Amino acid sequence: MKKAIEDFDFNSKKVLLRVDFNVPLNNGKIVSDVRIVEELPTIKYLLDKHAKIILCSHLGKPNGQVNKIYSLKPVYQRLKELLPQTKVYFCDQTIGEKAEKMANQLKDGEILLLENLRFEKGEEENADYMVDALSKLAETFVFDAFGTSHRKHASTYGVSKKLPSCMGYLVKKETETFDQILSKPKKPFVAILGGAKISDKIDVVKNLLNKVDTILIGGGMCFTFIKAIKGEVGASIVDDEKLDFCFNVIKEAINKKVKIILPVDFVCANSIDDEASAEVYKLGKIPLDKMGLDIGPKTVKLFKKFIKHAKTIVWNGPMGVYEKEIFSNGTKSVAELVAKNKHCISVIGGGDVVGAVEKFELQDYFTHISTGGGASLKLLEGKELPAINVLQDK
Ligand code: AMP
Repeated sequence: MKKAIEDFDFNSKKVLLRVDFNVPLNNGKIVSDVRIVEELPTIKYLLDKHAKIILCSHLGKPNGQVNKIYSLKPVYQRLKELLPQTKVYFCDQTIGEKAEKMANQLKDGEILLLENLRFEKGEEENADYMVDALSKLAETFVFDAFGTSHRKHASTYGVSKKLPSCMGYLVKKETETFDQILSKPKKPFVAILGGAKISDKIDVVKNLLNKVDTILIGGGMCFTFIKAIKGEVGASIVDDEKLDFCFNVIKEAINKKVKIILPVDFVCANSIDDEASAEVYKLGKIPLDKMGLDIGPKTVKLFKKFIKHAKTIVWNGPMGVYEKEIFSNGTKSVAELVAKNKHCISVIGGGDVVGAVEKFELQDYFTHISTGGGASLKLLEGKELPAINVLQDK
């Protein structure tokens, strides 16, 4: 068990709080402030305990260069609006004398937001100079940026080796949820996998085979499985290098009594952009020049049988090219089916499905929507997250 914020005394202490304020921006304006709002419980807890909070985050990919487009200044403005009773300061430098001076001037219950961590080359390299400079700013470190916890950066990994460290509320919720579903899931446990590439999900499939009762496979990745068992896929995307892997997964699943359910019909078209040519074809009947771009209505019915009775559901990857209305029905229907199952713990492992579920305005019906695509994939692969692993044990 890793230390949590309740395990420390923050009274009058300087706390470095690593958050994920990597918000979407459009012309310097914040498009969605969800990531800031979600961090408020940890911030408010620390304020209540009279801490002096030094907030740090990355934003975008400035690659170690100062680039005003990626400044955290808009986040600072929003933070002030969200915390009208609190004094919030902004340091236009990430580390160095100015940051140290401003950190030292903080009074209890005040906040200092540092400029984008990735303006410093040493951040992503976990360079000693960066670790030292960040550690100097505070007496305690709270890690709450789940989305970066698979990265060994200065602010996610290096600092924890220098300062007493613990996890914030967001990281605690993410780790507890994944631990619950992966170590003691309520059965039946159904995994829903989709998305374009099988290559990204090889380790996820391998790990889930030891945990779940059923895997429902949709999206582009289903065609490599179908071809692996000599099914006809027309011009659908197939990763020929992964045919053996898929064949072996199916064999292993039979041995382990795990059901792998593949689609039985598809919405196909001549290409992603030729929406007018979209038509439904049964498995085995996809014309050679057409590609499957969504699961069909019979597949939705088939998947429903499993989703309806599931007690645990984990979902990663859309069922089709959900970005286009005509190919979005499979993903939408699956989202609705999961949303309707009130007796299950439903976890979305980040990435595209989160975008899809938000697009369909169904996000409130899921037990947990992970804030970290890459980090949640690592957990589904059964791997550890370095930034969490390095935190102090209880
Ligand atoms: P991934 O990053 O591997 O989870 O893939 C997400 C992407 O998969 C989305 O942009 C979807 O448009 C795409 N996708 C889903 N189904 C298909 C399909 N049948 N053919 C091609 N792309 C797909």
